Amino acid sequence: MNGREKLIEAVDLRKYFSVGGGFLRKNKFVQAVEGATFSIYKGETLGLVGESGCGKTTLGRTLIRLYEPTAGKIVYDGKVIFDKENRIAADMLPYRRKMQIIFQDPSASLDPRMTVGEIVGEALDIHKLAANRAERRERVNELLVSVGLNTEHSNRFPHEFSGGQQQRIGIARALAVRPEFIVCDEPISALDVSIQSQIVNMLEDLQQEMGLTYLFIAHDVSVVRHISDRIGVMYLGCMVELADSCELCSHPVHPYTQTLLSAVPLPDPEKSRTRKRILLEGDIPSPIDPPSGCRFHTRCPHAMGVCKEKRPVLKECAPGHFCACHLLDKK
Ligand code: SF4
Repeated sequence: MNGREKLIEAVDLRKYFSVGGGFLRKNKFVQAVEGATFSIYKGETLGLVGESGCGKTTLGRTLIRLYEPTAGKIVYDGKVIFDKENRIAADMLPYRRKMQIIFQDPSASLDPRMTVGEIVGEALDIHKLAANRAERRERVNELLVSVGLNTEHSNRFPHEFSGGQQQRIGIARALAVRPEFIVCDEPISALDVSIQSQIVNMLEDLQQEMGLTYLFIAHDVSVVRHISDRIGVMYLGCMVELADSCELCSHPVHPYTQTLLSAVPLPDPEKSRTRKRILLEGDIPSPIDPPSGCRFHTRCPHAMGVCKEKRPVLKECAPGHFCACHLLDKK
């Protein structure tokens, strides 16, 4: 990725949620994202994988400031839009046009009382992107066609559509403002397998046509591998590995990534039978009281003394391949 321009950069980004406390009781926090540092380059797709509850969605939403970060810094296209240390929190309205999100559950993300035309056209109104009603109607129709729907769908309500069609409406809504960057938050998890590939292919085509940059969040490594240029792996709020998608899948370095990849189904039944599956012991710990040092040490088969005491930081172990593990120091 050397030589390519960064579109968005996160530096030591954190997001904690308060969960109680009060008079004579210590405040408790869910440490959903802890010290995420990474960049996304213009025109690329960065995939984000990890178990449910590891903080992928929170990281995606914090990056575009749908959730206000607890600490850290976010730079968008060379401009600092958030910096806790220097008390910078830019007005987000101009950036809402540039950064959009596609939500996981299409039916829950669409207002059931609005027609498809109103849903897709709402952002045009907010950002004053259509001079009159005719132009607005024309733009809505264009958007519906670009996501594989018909222009007559604009007068219908979300409940009249299948899950796949509802997700297409969600995508049309995200595209309405001609964004540069889209967080695709598990956009296919709620869909039938037969529909998933259609949506993934459509997102790839739209990226080519419109020069979009994606953060693609999913828990299915095989889907992320297909769509992503690079992949980041998260465990309990921390980014533990980040690399080019082929490099990460063929040479995973972090023990957690190795475990995740050992569970991905292989198309060859013979290879699948002979492959060694790595099974983790125990449950994922609570992000309210995460383990000290490396957050993975309670389940890691290679844990050493230092792992309990010192948190490993992301280090470059091969060109463009970053991993946060003390095993790297032993090599
Ligand atoms: Fe395992 Fe230690 Fe590496 Fe964490 S730092 S993944 S516990 S070896």
